[in-house]
Amino acid sequence: MVAIVGRPNVGKSTLVNRLVGRREAIVEERPGITRDRTVHDVEWIGRNLVVVDTGGWVPPHRLGDTSVSPDPLAGSVTEQAELAAETADVVLLVVDAATGATEEDEEVARWLRRGAAPVLLVANKADAVASGAPGGPRHSLPVALAELYSLGIGDPWPVSALHGTGSGDLLDAVVDLL
Ligand code: GDP
Ligand code: MG
Repeated sequence: MVAIVGRPNVGKSTLVNRLVGRREAIVEERPGITRDRTVHDVEWIGRNLVVVDTGGWVPPHRLGDTSVSPDPLAGSVTEQAELAAETADVVLLVVDAATGATEEDEEVARWLRRGAAPVLLVANKADAVASGAPGGPRHSLPVALAELYSLGIGDPWPVSALHGTGSGDLLDAVVDLL
């Protein structure tokens, strides 16, 4: 099981769509999908991965309110991280490379470092760093990636979930950890 974790808007769902949308991947939506958590089967070079998008963020004061959060995996990003760290075989911590590491990213990284599961750091929106899109880039991609080492997760994997670059290398790295 591969859990995709990260604060809202970093591109988790876009990444999942990219991973399951590849021609090489065989995908099947599972029954029981909730709006907060989607589970997908992905086959990559002969390995079967169950990819979970832990996307549904709910404000902490509404946790336990089943009208908001029907799924126990929904919750604060930190709670997602705790659960992912306990149950996943590999965790993908997705951050926005154009924004750089935020306090929330650091908090989640701290949790994941405590867990048993290996964590890969996904530096998504690499295209936005390189392209000079408004609001994003303050610098080049190599500098943006170097700054992400401060999260203590190791090498960042540059990806553009939007354009598809880097997703094959990322899947190779995931499979290497299994
Ligand atoms: P989530 O909340 O983490 O699931 O993030 P989403 O997948 O919903 O994406 C949030 C926003 O970021 C959307 O507007 C996406 O189109 C955009 N986005 C996602 N991935 C990329 C990327 O690789 N590059 C750029 N430029 N935008 C992206
Ligand atoms: Mg999402």
